[in-house]
Amino acid sequence: MTKAVQVGKGLEIGNGSFAIISGPCSVENREQMEFILSFHQKWKLSFLRGGIFKPRTNPKSFQGLGYEGLELIRELKRQYDFLFVSEITDVRDIDLFEEVIDIFQVGSRNMQNYVLLKELGHSRKPVILKRGMSATISEWIQASEYISLGGNENIIFCERGIRTFDHYTRNFLDIMSVPIIHKETPYPVIVDPSHAIGISELVPFGAIAAKAIGADGLILEIHPDPASALSDGMQSLDLQSFENLLSRLI
Ligand code: PEP
Ligand code: MN
Repeated sequence: MTKAVQVGKGLEIGNGSFAIISGPCSVENREQMEFILSFHQKWKLSFLRGGIFKPRTNPKSFQGLGYEGLELIRELKRQYDFLFVSEITDVRDIDLFEEVIDIFQVGSRNMQNYVLLKELGHSRKPVILKRGMSATISEWIQASEYISLGGNENIIFCERGIRTFDHYTRNFLDIMSVPIIHKETPYPVIVDPSHAIGISELVPFGAIAAKAIGADGLILEIHPDPASALSDGMQSLDLQSFENLLSRLI
C-alpha cells in the first residue's frame, strides 16, 4: 500500500483509492470552467485540473491566462466545491499559487528545475511531479528527493510518457514505471494518458491500462469542445467520451 497524500480537507491520493483528476489543458474562460464543474458535480468528481501558466514549446502558442486565470479560479472556489491542480512554472509564483491551488503540478519540462523543486520542498501542499520527457526512472526519483529533503513528503509521481523512436503516439506510455515507482518509493503514482498518447480516441485505452497495472489515479484532459481548445485539443476527451470512460473505470 502506498503512503496516503492528504489533499484539502478529508481527501487523499494513494492508500488504495483511485483519484480522477480531470479538466482542460488550459483554463480559458469562466463558461468553459463552469461547464466542466457542473459535469464534475454530476459525477461527484473532486479534483479539477487546469493550466494557468502554460509552458509551451512554441513561444507564440497560447501561454495561458496567467494571473487573470488564477483570479477566476479563486472566484469559482467561492461558488463550487473542488480541489484544484495547476502547474507551477516559476518560484516567484509559489506564495500566490498557495492561496488558490490545492496541488502543485511540476510539468515534464521542469522536472529538473531543482530551484523550483527545492522551494516546493518548503511547502506542505502536495506536489504532482511529472516525469521529464527524456528522464530515466532513477532521475525522476532523484528529482523527488529535492522535494522530500525540504520536508515536503506529499509527493505524487505522474507518468506522462517519454520520448522513443516511435512517433505514432505523442509520447510512449511507459506503464511499467507504475509498479517500479511503487517498488522503489513509498509514494503514490498516477498516470497522464492524455500527454502520453496525444490522440483522444486512444486515451481511454491508456487510462484503463493504468488502472489495471495499479496506478493510484489518472490525470486527464477534457474539454466541452476539443476542436476549439486553445491547447491540446487533439488529446482532450469530449464530455461524452469522458462519461463512457468513467462508466468503465468506476
Ligand atoms: C499539462 O499537464 O498540460 C502539461 C503541459 O503536461 P506535461 O508537463 O506532461 O507536458
Ligand atoms: Mn496539455
